[in-house]
Amino acid sequence: MNRNIAIYPGSFDPITIGHMDIIQRASRLYRRVVVAVLRNPDKRSCFTAEERVDMIERCCANLMNVEAVAFDGLTVDLARAQGATVMLRGLRAAGDFEAERTLAQLNQRLAPELETVLLIGRPEHSAISSSAARELASYGQSLQGIVPDEVVKQVLAHFHPASHS
Ligand code: ADP
Repeated sequence: MNRNIAIYPGSFDPITIGHMDIIQRASRLYRRVVVAVLRNPDKRSCFTAEERVDMIERCCANLMNVEAVAFDGLTVDLARAQGATVMLRGLRAAGDFEAERTLAQLNQRLAPELETVLLIGRPEHSAISSSAARELASYGQSLQGIVPDEVVKQVLAHFHPASHS
């Protein structure tokens, strides 16, 4: 296993099985993986940063070298504070590439010592996103196979509190 610490930043609003796959693979590659939940003060999130951190922690309870933290500000500052040398991101499909390239090149300027590593998502996860999970949940559809089993109930309950109490 690589001795580096990796930071995996994102909104995780909520965590999906696509995110989980990236986290599991990263946990085998790096000594420590810090999942960094962006607070997004100007982009309204469905779940609070604390709820998102809690959901990730429950899903990753058996991954001993993975932890979740909430953050605001620049990701490179958090990476430095955590001693991370790798910034992980996931690529679902070609459409993700441009945004990830821009972000990676911006971060190269801000923190040349931090390497962005892009992990390619599995083909069966290419249509899975947090926004798809929120959309399905808002219509009361099943979230099985979209978000990890540990959080299915909580995500559905957010949209339909009466039927999942
Ligand atoms: P952001 O709002 O920063 O894009 P997300 O929570 O949507 O945060 O995603 C965090 C990271 O995980 C991004 O790099 C994104 O491309 C990646 N990701 C999201 N869904 C998947 C998936 N199904 N397969 C692989 N990577 C994914």
